Amino acid sequence: RSKSAGRNCFTIYDEAMSAELEARNTLEGDLRDAIARCQLEVHYQPFMDAGTGARRGFEALVRWRHPVRGLIPPDQFIALAEETGLIVPLGEFVLRRACADAASWPSDLMVAVNLSPIQFKEADLFDVICAALHDSGLSPQRLEIEITESVLLERGAENHAFMERLKGIGIELALDDFGTGYSSLSYLTAFPFDKIKIDKSFIRSLTHQPRSSAIISSIVTLARGLDMAVTAEGVETSEEFERLKALGVNFAQGYLFGRPRPIAEIELDGPSSRSQRDAA
Ligand code: C2E
Ligand code: MG
Ligand code: MG
Ligand code: MG
Repeated sequence: RSKSAGRNCFTIYDEAMSAELEARNTLEGDLRDAIARCQLEVHYQPFMDAGTGARRGFEALVRWRHPVRGLIPPDQFIALAEETGLIVPLGEFVLRRACADAASWPSDLMVAVNLSPIQFKEADLFDVICAALHDSGLSPQRLEIEITESVLLERGAENHAFMERLKGIGIELALDDFGTGYSSLSYLTAFPFDKIKIDKSFIRSLTHQPRSSAIISSIVTLARGLDMAVTAEGVETSEEFERLKALGVNFAQGYLFGRPRPIAEIELDGPSSRSQRDAA
């Protein structure tokens, strides 16, 4: 942007900037409407007990059913929702929807909900969670909350106390995307997690990078010492799954077992189905 670049460059730059800003404003307005008009949907992806192969529960993943653009994945609007504060009503919607849906599933199935660090700054988050449980009738033991490391970096003491409160009523806590952030192992010992979810980037490189095996096996050893379970995210092939089982991973999630699907397409028949138990 030097002077010699001339006036035209400034104009083009400014136009590109304002076009981007305009697109952002449009998206923000649309997202605001989407929340008000219930265009957000919660899809569910199963996670499995690696030892028995049984389905243990589902992770709730938000999608935006845009009237013109179709189904928009969360990577395209969560960051914006966080910047604008819209993540607060969005997150409450997902939490309530997930609890209500899970309340009708067989009672051995858990539901995992992602919470944004921004939601942690809301003074009433605990009340919001309790209300979602109360209104749905879901037992707190069936709710798992997934958070990323960023929650541990900021406001560590407050967030630690908050996590203890959640655990106090029986909610499980999972550390999501482990290995991608500023992971300091000290966080693992300092915070009361029940589960560590190893990021899918490690699973992706598992079959062609011997080092990934070493990393995963270290995480498993560490987690065991801390009395935490380990989930492998993004398991796509049975070869990966076999390797992960051999490495001692407790849970597995990924396209191999099922993609995220709308609630209407979730097949609840199977080993843990209500009808089978009733028949037994
Ligand atoms: P995440 O919580 O780590 O969720 C797992 C992501 O991995 C999901 O992407 C899922 O579709 C994808 N995935 C699962 N199995 C596989 C696999 O085998 N291969 C590959 N390549 N991908 C797999 P999705 O649904 O696009 O969500 C992306 C991220 O958006 C989530 O990552 C989470 O951080 C965020 N997110 C989604 N829903 C919510 C929400 O309700 N609230 C908040 N705060 N964040 C959310
Ligand atoms: Mg997650
Ligand atoms: Mg993850
Ligand atoms: Mg993530």
